[in-house]
Amino acid sequence: MIPGADDYDVDVTFDETEVQQLLSVEPADVDAADELTFAKNVFVPLTTACRYTCTYCTYFDAPGEASLLSPEEVRDVVRTGADAGCTEALFTFGDDPDDRYTRIHDQLAEWGHDSIHTYLREVCEIALDEGLLPHSNPGDQTRDQMELVADVNSSMGVMLETTADVDAHAGPRVKNPGQRLNTIRNAGELGVPFTTGILVGIGEDWRDRAESLLAIREMHERYGHVQEVIVQNVVPNERSNYDRPSVETMRRVVAMARYCLPEEVSVQVPPNLSPTRDLLDCGVDDLGGVSPVTDDHINPEYKWPALQELEDIADEAGVPLRERLPVYRRYLPDDLGGDSERNEWVSETIRDAIAADDEAGERYRRVLDAR
Ligand code: SF4
Repeated sequence: MIPGADDYDVDVTFDETEVQQLLSVEPADVDAADELTFAKNVFVPLTTACRYTCTYCTYFDAPGEASLLSPEEVRDVVRTGADAGCTEALFTFGDDPDDRYTRIHDQLAEWGHDSIHTYLREVCEIALDEGLLPHSNPGDQTRDQMELVADVNSSMGVMLETTADVDAHAGPRVKNPGQRLNTIRNAGELGVPFTTGILVGIGEDWRDRAESLLAIREMHERYGHVQEVIVQNVVPNERSNYDRPSVETMRRVVAMARYCLPEEVSVQVPPNLSPTRDLLDCGVDDLGGVSPVTDDHINPEYKWPALQELEDIADEAGVPLRERLPVYRRYLPDDLGGDSERNEWVSETIRDAIAADDEAGERYRRVLDAR
């Protein structure tokens, strides 16, 4: 039973034959992708307040120290990104700031907000106004919270990390796999194109990895909304000293992800954290968001490689490198250059932004036209 599943009425069960089959997968069982994709983004760390204290995480700050970007700061960052040719504003969060973060709540109140989600809506609108498509990762979300911001996001995400109960999530406030799956289910029910992923090396075992991937596949089979799955290794940092998983481990996990997930779901590794070149033949087809103008605030000690580096990686693999939007093409209607005959995956607001006859619209079309 997945911890917390009952609390959120998440009914995911595992077929033992499928678990065993996935556990037997090796890199030789999957094919290398025939192209690599990436998105150009600006990283906007909206708040570093987080109700959790995951032991491997350097992102969150304690109450009294946590930051909250102002609307003006957000506008500055996204404008810089738009000027540099980005298409995505990646809004990152800790999980909902809890009652301990009085300064954050007071600041939000001063700006006219009673929740971080109403503020997220405002800054997503700023990003759209400046010509970037929002992709928000606000941690766990109730259906109501997600509904509040879904129409101003081209896609959203949250890492499942693992379905296991691991010490890395221990402490007075424990991140709950059932709640994560509930967030992924909320996205499916609301028709939000979604990014999720697993974190490797935080105390989970091989069976946990297999079950985590099967749980994500189950959610995608129900709703069709998972656009990509990140397979990320933990890294040592200033707060923790986790062993980085070996290249052999990562090769096997990436191959398991590729084997488990339907072909249309991309398998992504973050090139600033992973031994990317050694993983490409295991089915990686996406290198995630790459920022030409901002650091990776989640892992600030690990700089994003330059775009040139991504081109070198693709060259060495002998495959083309193609830029994509934060929302995958198959969720866009065909009149916007997408593959979907349905119109409901992205909101009218996002469709209008992509179709706009302005500088931003040209930038999106340039990406969509580069098939
Ligand atoms: S990993 Fe995410 S949920 Fe955990 S402490 Fe860091 S920001 Fe919070």
